[in-house]
Amino acid sequence: MLEKMEEFNQEKVIEEFEATTKDAERVQTETLKKILEENGSAEYLQNLGLNGRTDPESFKNCVPLVTHKELEQYIQRIADGDSSPILTGKPITTISLSSGTTQGRPKFVPFNDELMESTMQIYRTSFAFRNKEFPLGNGKSLQFIYSSKQFKTKGGLAAGTATTNLFRNPQFKTTMKAIQFQPCSPDEVIFGPDFHQSLYCHLLCGLIFRDEVEFVFSTFAHSIIHAFRTFEHVWEELCTDIRDGVLSSRVTVPSVRAAMSKLLKPNPELAELIYEKCSGLSNWYRLVPELFPNAKYIYGIMTGSMEPYLKKLRHYAGELPLLGADYGSSEGWLGANVNPKLPPELATFSVLPNIGFFEFIPLRENIEDQEPNFLSVEPRPVGLTEVKIGEEYEIILTTFAGLYRYRLGDVVKVMGFHNSTPELKFVCRRNLLLTVNIDKTTEKDLQIAVEEAGKELGEDKLEVVDFTSHVDSSTDPAHYVVFWEISGEASEEVLQECCNCLDRSFLDAGYVSSRKVSTIGALELRVVRRGTFQKLLDHCLASGGAVSQFKTPRCIGQANKLVLQILCDNVVKSYFSAAF
Ligand code: AMP
Repeated sequence: MLEKMEEFNQEKVIEEFEATTKDAERVQTETLKKILEENGSAEYLQNLGLNGRTDPESFKNCVPLVTHKELEQYIQRIADGDSSPILTGKPITTISLSSGTTQGRPKFVPFNDELMESTMQIYRTSFAFRNKEFPLGNGKSLQFIYSSKQFKTKGGLAAGTATTNLFRNPQFKTTMKAIQFQPCSPDEVIFGPDFHQSLYCHLLCGLIFRDEVEFVFSTFAHSIIHAFRTFEHVWEELCTDIRDGVLSSRVTVPSVRAAMSKLLKPNPELAELIYEKCSGLSNWYRLVPELFPNAKYIYGIMTGSMEPYLKKLRHYAGELPLLGADYGSSEGWLGANVNPKLPPELATFSVLPNIGFFEFIPLRENIEDQEPNFLSVEPRPVGLTEVKIGEEYEIILTTFAGLYRYRLGDVVKVMGFHNSTPELKFVCRRNLLLTVNIDKTTEKDLQIAVEEAGKELGEDKLEVVDFTSHVDSSTDPAHYVVFWEISGEASEEVLQECCNCLDRSFLDAGYVSSRKVSTIGALELRVVRRGTFQKLLDHCLASGGAVSQFKTPRCIGQANKLVLQILCDNVVKSYFSAAF
């Protein structure tokens, strides 16, 4: 089999990508046909009366748009061990847990070999383009990756986060080897049961192999920032371990200790060198290139809710390029970043037309181009090649893993086309919304407001470490609450000004007008203790989440009581805006 000895042929991968994207419409029709043929026997499709038809029109007429909620009962039956064809022709044997940022609890979604294959196709494609611009040698990479535990569902299916399911799949390693994605840490560290210990060991492995490290990676940029913030606290201990060749007693897991002891030999010269490098840095600026002189770039998802971490990442990276990774979800993949030279703020994702069938709900009705559809309640999605540049859409997925016309909940903007496939920019999660009455504040609006208000801290050389928000309906009228963790102590005046600025920076017309007439109360800035967002991460891990997929929830709903409690218990100061 090809997988056994996978050779990577960069030109061929690029050629294949060019060919499929040149004829995206035809490829989409063929892909839908294939999905429906493979899964035609599934109960879900049978009940919808497709009767063997596989064309896009019949598909759209028969199959309704759904969210996870409508599919939950089917997925639950699969998880409970019903092996009849429910959503797919072939039985599903693995379940993925999505990060569940929105609901505060992970969701079950089906995982299968086809999903594995499309993941590998996305990885190979973006690697081919990345490697063309930033060729790698034969070195290693420092990867902050963590595999959470797989468990068995009631029906005996393996379940884990999507990243865990990937890491545990035998094909994964083969492909990763072929695309020079070799972590310097041993498996025992990646699969270690304690995240904090694994992180410490990743850092140690990075330092041991410092000359060989060619890039630094984590799935989401948040983990890279988290890792280097940790480094700031443990670097002397790491140096001691390297000098003496003895692993710190903080690492207690026997398998991890055993694996690390094979790598760790006393190396006073290296310890001294790292010590000098770190001592010579000013506020850890350029930490990454100083530690890893042969690193060519930092790679990971840096778009969407990761954008607020870019400033800090650039601080650690100095002149090293930041390369944004691809766009996908536990439910299925969407696109690859084939323009790696663009800064993450401008990154787009070219949709691979053969990994799923994609539809797009226009978010701004274009009156001239569309028949009036005010009578129909159902939104009318357009096809992959029918989207328009400059427009925003909500994405609908149909996958090989049993999701049909599934509303992913992401909003994207079409920035251009690569051949005939769209290049998407991730905008935000659709339902992450602060709303009191007529206001509709999105995750992106919040991000912009925080960025604007954060500038007020700049003079004191402080920064917002992390943030989230909430609507407090216990007051009348209700008001927005923004939680901030700050890197140090800011004065009362500065924080009051930050609070005013936040309030002024929410530009949604509904918000501004409601604030003017006081149907929304004054915005409240609550400053939380250092380490509070770490507690949120720990809480997410304790409830079955994985660090690799962690995204700070940017809006905490009333129902997410535990997270809200953690935040509220850690508030040290609170300010009300006087902006209106
Ligand atoms: P999960 O299912 O936990 O892997 O989370 C998937 C979600 O992460 C997607 O639906 C997006 O909201 C977000 N996401 C994934 N990739 C990207 C990306 N490249 N840029 C921005 N957001 C992303």
